[in-house]
Amino acid sequence: MSLQSLTACTACGACTEACPEDILEIAVDGVAIKPGAGECTFCGECAAACPEDVFASDRRMAHVMQISGDCLAQAGIACMTCRDVCPETAISMRPRVGGPFLPELDAASCTGCAACSSACPADAIHAIERGPENV
Ligand code: SF4
Ligand code: SF4
Ligand code: SF4
Repeated sequence: MSLQSLTACTACGACTEACPEDILEIAVDGVAIKPGAGECTFCGECAAACPEDVFASDRRMAHVMQISGDCLAQAGIACMTCRDVCPETAISMRPRVGGPFLPELDAASCTGCAACSSACPADAIHAIERGPENV
């Protein structure tokens, strides 16, 4: 679920208790996703539990993921974990001469669920703001 209006959040914590994945927390500005906590399945329980108009009903986050230079494959160590866990097949592996396949992330297909970032053994995948080219 993406956020419709964070300013509507009263920090009541109903969503954090409702989330079956336990990935939500109340931060300074209101509800937030815990970094590295796990994957959003877009089940909608947070929106159903929230008494305010905080959550949108879509199945995409306001962010997308980006793979950094900390990726093991870029350092010559074969790894396809992110590709394997992505429920949207947004990550593909590009062959190259002289080294392991490199992961490529299609931001337009990425929902921002964080399955990849929480599974990456090198902590190489992080959220960035979704640009107009990726909506
Ligand atoms: S939609 Fe995502 S954040 Fe909301 S309750 Fe389900 S798993 Fe948790
Ligand atoms: S899971 Fe992490 S280390 Fe492995 S290929 Fe993906 S970004 Fe690279
Ligand atoms: S955040 Fe989710 S949809 Fe996006 S690349 Fe990672 S696993 Fe795939």
